[in-house]
Amino acid sequence: MTKRNGITYTEHNGQFIKHCPCTPDVVSCGYYNLNLHTGCPYSCSYCILQAYLETKEPIYFTNFADMEKELQEASYTHRYLRIGTGELTDSLALDPRTDYSHKILALFEQFPDIVFEFKTKSTHIENILNYGKKLNNIIISWSLNPREVIKREELLTPNLFSRLKAIETAQRQGFKIGIHFDPIVVFPGWKAAYLDLIRQIAKIIIPAQIAWWSLGALRFPYSLRDHIFKYQNSRLFEGELIKGHDGKYRYFKPLRLELFHYVKKHIREYVSPDVPLYLCMEDKEVWQEVLPKLPPDEAALNKYLYESALRVLRAFVVQKRRR
Ligand code: SF4
Repeated sequence: MTKRNGITYTEHNGQFIKHCPCTPDVVSCGYYNLNLHTGCPYSCSYCILQAYLETKEPIYFTNFADMEKELQEASYTHRYLRIGTGELTDSLALDPRTDYSHKILALFEQFPDIVFEFKTKSTHIENILNYGKKLNNIIISWSLNPREVIKREELLTPNLFSRLKAIETAQRQGFKIGIHFDPIVVFPGWKAAYLDLIRQIAKIIIPAQIAWWSLGALRFPYSLRDHIFKYQNSRLFEGELIKGHDGKYRYFKPLRLELFHYVKKHIREYVSPDVPLYLCMEDKEVWQEVLPKLPPDEAALNKYLYESALRVLRAFVVQKRRR
């Protein structure tokens, strides 16, 4: 074990690749997590890591050969593998200090059939842009929320303007972009705030380069309650919350349906009718109501999202040829 720049580097004894745990009785999208590092320098009121992780200290695992072996095996058994480092940490928040993105890119260059996602709220894409090669299986995704939510709930994170600038830069370099509206938070004025956010995204985004866009309504386990109370300006308790059978608190169904329909309508209207939307941690009924054209089935959704990423690639190649 070593420590440099406040970051611990050590070997990982467990499995690197894990099916996203999702939650019982919802439609999983078939995503996999790559547990390459833990801990996050940001401080979000709704973040489940605050309840799950023993320490916020960043720990980066070093045994890449073991991870490569696991990936090799997974590539034999999974035809449509989508995987990322952003479920348990921010994929890029500490990248200027670790340069792990280079190691990841070098690794996934060997697995062109596995779609890898960097998921972040940061603006640290320099190392990725400087890698020298653009890999077709790489997506850079941003979690976005209206300014009001960032200010109250996402402390220490870059502001919306900086994130949108980073998206613009990445897509100009030809990268495929993912967007995550997760968690969507209800507060007085939420409709105007999300509409404004969608309009701002629409001004800069190239729809053909969107690999996927998730919608997830606020949910949190009871154990996160004390953490949320520490955020005196938080508005997480303002929507009508109920306890689901997974023990998590979430908005009651009519409110979730209202917010999903609302953001979907405006994304379709302002960004593109073809944006590949999906829901995070929602049950079959909500899926069928909100996205009736998609089969609420894990294998089918995973394939749809995987192929969506590849379709973006084709669109980008065609665009480049035309230039
Ligand atoms: S729907 Fe969300 S929580 Fe469930 S598997 Fe997909 S990314 Fe993970």
